Order: sequence, then structure tokens, then C-alpha cells
Amino acid sequence: MENEFDVVIIGGGVSGCAAFYAMSEYSDIKKIAIVEKCDRLAKVSSSAKANSQTIHDGSIETNYTVEKAKKVKLSAYKVRHYALNKNLQNKVIFENQKMAIGVGENECRFMTERHESFKEIFPNLEFFDKNKIKELEPKVILRADGTDRSENVVGSGFKKDWCAMNFGLLSENFVEESKKLNPNNEVFLNFRVKKIEPRADGYALISENSDEIYAKFVLVNAGSYSLPLAQSMGYGMDLGCLPVAGSFYFVPDLLRGKVYTVQNPKLPFAAVHGDPDVAIKGKTRIGPTALTMPKLERNKHWLGGISMELLKMDLNKEVFKIALDLFSDKEIRDYVFKNMIFEMPFFGKRKFLKDAQKIIPSLKLEDLEYAQGFGEVRPQVLDRAKRKLELGEKKISTGKGITFNMTPSPGATSCLQNALNDSQEIAAYLGVKFDLERFYKDLSPEELENL
Ligand SMILES: Cc1cc2nc3c(=O)[nH]c(=O)nc-3n(C[C@H](O)[C@H](O)[C@H](O)COP(=O)(O)OP(=O)(O)OC[C@H]3O[C@@H](n4cnc5c(N)ncnc54)[C@H](O)[C@@H]3O)c2cc1C
Repeated sequence: MENEFDVVIIGGGVSGCAAFYAMSEYSDIKKIAIVEKCDRLAKVSSSAKANSQTIHDGSIETNYTVEKAKKVKLSAYKVRHYALNKNLQNKVIFENQKMAIGVGENECRFMTERHESFKEIFPNLEFFDKNKIKELEPKVILRADGTDRSENVVGSGFKKDWCAMNFGLLSENFVEESKKLNPNNEVFLNFRVKKIEPRADGYALISENSDEIYAKFVLVNAGSYSLPLAQSMGYGMDLGCLPVAGSFYFVPDLLRGKVYTVQNPKLPFAAVHGDPDVAIKGKTRIGPTALTMPKLERNKHWLGGISMELLKMDLNKEVFKIALDLFSDKEIRDYVFKNMIFEMPFFGKRKFLKDAQKIIPSLKLEDLEYAQGFGEVRPQVLDRAKRKLELGEKKISTGKGITFNMTPSPGATSCLQNALNDSQEIAAYLGVKFDLERFYKDLSPEELENL
């Protein structure tokens, strides 16, 4: 039947599209579909407007430990190899200068030590002193009057790196390639899964309009909605969700590349950074901010779309306890309030200017423009049993033909790594072959020796 598939992926963001591609190219799975609630692919977190467009390989992300950087580097190289193999240079993947800077003596000491330990993972990582930064990224050093800023500044990074990506276009490319590989593969847009029902040897996915499609295996890559869908079937009841929206401010083309800053280790989200926009020439984004809000996806109206699913997930004492613990820390509390102010008309811009001036000291109020309609929600996972906020991704493998992925940042960078893990699991479940060696040859030659 036309609506019967071996695998159906719920969610046409970069995670779902990457899994679609990995299974189509490297496995013997015959018929795969994506169902997506929007009228096109990658309209939510994976859109170029939603995220910072960074391939996070760990080299300049000062919130990553050495261990995390080792892991994330392998994920990052997979999307990089994919885009370069498919000749997507300057369409999907972009080469830029990038650096993390330390400002002031403490941060400079931190960056100097960090550089030494991270050089082991990134042998070509370069250290930049203040003069070198002035040459590479003059606006990071120069004040409005043309003199140098007074604090010491050092940096660690690369003069050239394939480090920026339009994850929306990457998603579309994955799907184009998958359809070429297997014409039986389908994408159903405007199909919002309302219910997942177990059927004889698989599942029926029922849409809001009562359309049904069937799958032997269901992969749920529905972004913020993965956990509500899991909980509707009784899975992941030990988890909750803290939606943290990220917004951006535009500044003119003042930076030549990506400039990241030192993370306060107490704070759960990356410090603001500067990223030249790969989709809008001549604009640089500073951000993202971090605003907790009762929504699973952002939309234009402040009160529109308050999520009932979220209330169902989070109205319990453990989640309150986690929130209370976070809020009882003064630094976190100040950070939360500061980020609330960033979203306010008039005051937001004025408050944000100070943070942005850490990157570009000459920045003026009139240079800043709130990036209306940009940014999205990061669905951070809460572990109710451990009573703590989990950073990064979470997967619920049921072993019963359905898997759920929660993919906050750097989920776009990890899309092919997650796709690899899921494809292997699904192929094993369906009893078909997955060609890991060919996957590694194409997308991760660094790992071939591990086979
Ligand atoms: C401000 C911000 C900055 C970020 N910066 C970066 C960055 O620089 N680098 C990086 O690697 N990551 C970054 N991330 C994270 C990254 O954007 C996400 O991890 C990634 O896009 C997740 O992709 P996804 O496909 O899992 O989810 P999504 O892109 O959200 O896709 C999920 C899809 O599921 C669909 N869906 C949901 N429910 C249903 C349903 N019931 N039925 C059918 N379809 C459904 C949605 O419509 C959506 O299209 C950032 C995130 C934010 C918010």
C-alpha cells in the first residue's frame, strides 16, 4: 500500500532529514518517509534564521570540556565532509575565520591554558595575541575613538575554517539526495502527527486531519515535540523540558569571522558570540540570548502558542525543585533577569549593548537592531530523577520499534552522528544491512581505523 513504510521519521528538521539520507544511502531499508507538520522542511530550529549557523567542532566553544570537544569534533567533521563531498561550498557550507577571545587578565589566562590543552585535539589551532587580533579582527580591539581598548585580549582559533553552515539548505539537500537514491521514499508535508498507535507489526501515525500512515519503525525527530510524543505513549516520564528561547541582535558587517567569548562555567548556555550571517550578506548576528518561556516553539505573538504539552510535562514537584535550585543561585537569577530585559522594547537594546561591546567595543546603540523573527527555542532536558538540568541531547530507545530524539544545541552539528546511531539501530531492528564502512569512508575517514 502507498502509505506503508519500513521507517517513518516524524520531523523534517536537519535531524530527520539526515536520518532519511543516512538510511537511504547506507542501508538496505526499502521504503522510508518523513512526516512534517509545516508546509516545508526545516522551518523550525534548523532554519537558517533560527540558529547561529555554526558547525560546533569544540575548538572555540569555551563551554566544552576536552572530552566533549573530542566527541563533537567527530560529529562536526561528518557534516563538513558531507557538504564538501557534495560540492556545497558557498551554498550550504562557508569558510570563515573564527576565534574565541578572552578579555581581561583572568580570561586571558584561561584562554592561554585552554589553547594548550585544545591544541592536542586541534593541532592547527593558532594562538593570537592582542596585536594579531587587531590585524585579523580590528573591531575587537579598536574603540570608537580609534585607540586600542585598555584590557588585554587574547584569542585561539583558525584563520580559515569550514565552520559556518546553512542547516536549512543542508536539510533540503539531504532530502533531494535521498529521493534520488530511492524513488519509493516520500515526504509528507502539512502532516502533524497527533497520535501514534501500536499496530500488529509496527505503528500507525495519525494526523490532525485523521490521515494515517504505517511504519514498522518510527523515528521521532520532532525537536521540542519529541518528548511530549514520547510521554503520550508512556515513555520518558522521568524527563521534563525547560524551553529556553534564543534571540539575536543584528549589527552591521563589523566582524570578519566568528568571534566567541569565554563562558561563565556557572551558566548553562554559551556566552553571546558574533557570527556573520551566511544567509543575509552584510549582517552580523550577536547572540543568542537565553529567555525561558512557556512555549515549545517560538512564534510571532508573545502569548500565542503557549504549550499545553509543556504544562503536562512540567507540572510536577521535581521540575519545580529543579527550577527553584537554578533560581536560588544569584548569578543564574541575574542572568535570567538580564535575558528577560534583552527582549524588551527600548530597554533590551540598551542592556544588550554592554554585552555586545565585549566583542566590539566601538559598537553604538544605533548599530544594534533586534533580529525580529530570528532565533528559536532550545528544548533543554530536565532529569526528574536526578533533579537536574541536562545539557545536550537525549535519546529514548524503547527497543520496541520506536525511538525519540531530543536535540538541543549542538544538535544541528550532530545531525549525521545521530543519524548514524539511529540508522544502525533501525537496520538491526529490521534485520537489514547498514554499510558502516562506506559511511566512514565517505563521511568520517578519521574513524575508519576503529572498524
Ligand atoms: C538560538 C539557537 C542557536 C543555535 N545555534 C546552533 C548552532 O550554531 N549550531 C548547531 O549545531 N546547533 C545550533 N542550535 C541547535 C540546532 O538548531 C538544533 O539542535 C537543530 O536544529 C535540531 O534539529 P531537529 O531536526 O532535531 O529539530 P527541528 O529543526 O526543530 O525539527 C523538528 C521538526 O519536527 C516537526 N514536528 C514537530 N512536531 C511534529 C509533529 N507532531 N508532527 C510532524 N512534525 C512535527 C517540526 O515542525 C520541525 O520541522 C541552535 C538552536 C537555537 C535555538
